[in-house]
Amino acid sequence: MPEDAPLLRLTGVSRTYARREVLHRIDLDLSAGECVALLGHNGSGKSTLLRIAAGRDTPTTGTVTFDGLPMDENDPRVRARVAVVGDTAACYPDLTVREHLQLVAVAHGVDEAEDWIDHVLADRLLSEHARSLPAALSSGQLQSLLLATALVRPRDLLLLDEPEQRLDPDARRRLAELIAAETEGGVGVLLVTHHAELARSVADRVLVLRDGALIADGTPDEVLTGGADGVTWLGGDAEGGR
Ligand code: ADP
Repeated sequence: MPEDAPLLRLTGVSRTYARREVLHRIDLDLSAGECVALLGHNGSGKSTLLRIAAGRDTPTTGTVTFDGLPMDENDPRVRARVAVVGDTAACYPDLTVREHLQLVAVAHGVDEAEDWIDHVLADRLLSEHARSLPAALSSGQLQSLLLATALVRPRDLLLLDEPEQRLDPDARRRLAELIAAETEGGVGVLLVTHHAELARSVADRVLVLRDGALIADGTPDEVLTGGADGVTWLGGDAEGGR
């Protein structure tokens, strides 16, 4: 593998479901320490692309590599280094917030994780809910728990599917800080989002999908327009985009 191979590389990726092509010849490189934001309307193919990037779905044509390896989430070399935060809360109803984090840390071979779990709980404003069951959490706190599970395990690549969902503005700001800290630490972040302002604040590059094809790929300044009152993307609606 060449020294400068990207962390994540999608080459000519297409995906067809029931004879309908929902992703069309996507090329995407993501380097260590880089954040790429992916915007687009509902149904444009963002989640499909993220699933494929995570090795959870296979492209109909094209290839995906992670650090030069074929992307396959069942490969332990990949699983150990790729953290995914999906768009649905997958919680155990009878485990506390802390126990969720302990479970993930243990499953990923993290020893003596308690201090780090304390730090992550505080960082995500979950300390006072450490002993709560998921049913006692607000939807925003559940989302914070999902994010926290990614932070208690090793990772070189972080794949985020609309992590801003259910977060209030303050929690969204904290999410932006989290992403910035991840990239500063050398983690590559692929951020699927509806929130153009979040993309502007954290992304090195912004990609826009429409009907399965990339219609824009550039810096936030090149792709996003507008100010705080409503950042838009090329070919998109006002912030939110739904
Ligand atoms: P987005 O995340 O941008 O909202 P998706 O990637 O979820 O878009 O979906 C893109 C298109 O692919 C949609 O038309 C959706 O109905 C279709 N699609 C996604 N997953 C499947 C699947 N497992 N089977 C059939 N069609 C699917």
